[in-house]
Amino acid sequence: MTQPVNATSTPPRAGLMALDDALAQLLAHAQPLDGEESVATFEADGRVLAHDIVSALQVPPKDNSSMDGYALRCADVRTAGARLRVTQRIAAGLTGVPLHSGEAARIFTGAPMPLGADAVVMQEDTLLLAHENPEGVPQVQVNAVPQVGQWIRRSGEDVTLGATVLQRGERLHPASLGLAASLGLAHVRVSRQPRVALFSTGDELVMPGDVAPEAMPAGAIYNSNRFFLRALLHRLGCEVSDLGIVPDRRDTTIAALKSAADQHDLIVTSGGVSVGEEDHVKPAVQSLGALNLWQIGMKPGKPFAYGWVQRDVPGRAHFIGLPGNPVSSLVTFLLLVRPFILQLQGAQQVQPVRLTLPAHFDVTKADRRREFLRVRRNDQGGLDLFPNQSSGVLTSAVWGDGLLDHPAGSVIQKGDLVSYLPFADLWS
Ligand code: AMP
Ligand code: MG
Repeated sequence: MTQPVNATSTPPRAGLMALDDALAQLLAHAQPLDGEESVATFEADGRVLAHDIVSALQVPPKDNSSMDGYALRCADVRTAGARLRVTQRIAAGLTGVPLHSGEAARIFTGAPMPLGADAVVMQEDTLLLAHENPEGVPQVQVNAVPQVGQWIRRSGEDVTLGATVLQRGERLHPASLGLAASLGLAHVRVSRQPRVALFSTGDELVMPGDVAPEAMPAGAIYNSNRFFLRALLHRLGCEVSDLGIVPDRRDTTIAALKSAADQHDLIVTSGGVSVGEEDHVKPAVQSLGALNLWQIGMKPGKPFAYGWVQRDVPGRAHFIGLPGNPVSSLVTFLLLVRPFILQLQGAQQVQPVRLTLPAHFDVTKADRRREFLRVRRNDQGGLDLFPNQSSGVLTSAVWGDGLLDHPAGSVIQKGDLVSYLPFADLWS
């Protein structure tokens, strides 16, 4: 195997902007939004914490049993077979009384340890004797010699009082919601949701449901971008206004942008940012603010636009124009818009996770653009390549489970270590 290929070592084709430069420029504009809100911990999945969370208690609060069994004093069980009097029963939610020498407490998982006990013996290692001793107290025979501390979960072993458990800028996920709840938090303070207006451009687009497949006119295609873009925005914690399909006319495009700017932090469009005559987005945004049309040295996804639209009220809305080809739209969203939106929310970690894995295929033809190949992990721990890498083939992104970041001007030989970005992370 060779060393991992350096993803940015090759300069892009002349006239194209390097993806890393485009991302840096984009992030330079992504000032975190003002404002935070309190949301129910139940509803906070995927949101970004606005403050550190400091624990006001110990978790667990008290030493407790991690087994169903008997709490006892190890000094009483020097040899297997020792018998102890069972003087109390402590279920989860109850508290016991101090345990004296010669005594055991029947105890259940999660129940607090009684004072004086220093170990738990699991019930499988004991025998409850049916007969009772003369005092009327049942006895337990302990068949394994315990070690001090065994099967005890210590107070604070998860979280200590005063510890910073979750940090400002962290994105909450299911386990962090559980952890916040374990500290007694019914609500958490998070950055406010970015308000995003989404619209598609293109007269060829038809919404699924509006026209049946057999009745589709020649030249028409269904609007697929709208579906994944909206889902991705929701997953990133955005409040989305779906403004539908804007006809390929300058006046309608201007009207749509103008009304969206006042109410939104960001306007995202797909299509219409190539340099064709039917691409009206560029002049429309320019007439309302500013637009930079970038030709990024990446494949799929060369055309990409960033700019802003002036509001009637003071301020501006960000504008991002994605390419129309579905895979280009998807990949540019994942690599550029996702970090931008996370940074708007003050997230600390905006770059995707990368893994180094062996390619189990060859790429013999070098491309002059940095490519993001749709690949899938196989059972041998390597990556397989989807055969059709065309920017219109969405099947590649459904079959694939991630992107292989393939530097411009290089080839891949089977066994080469490559840089892989899992979709599992990119679309969370
Ligand atoms: P454009 O960037 O507008 O030139 O579009 C490039 C290609 O992507 C064309 O083949 C369009 O028909 C297609 N396309 C544009 N928008 C969408 C969309 N929302 N859903 C599916 N395909 C699209
Ligand atoms: Mg178009």
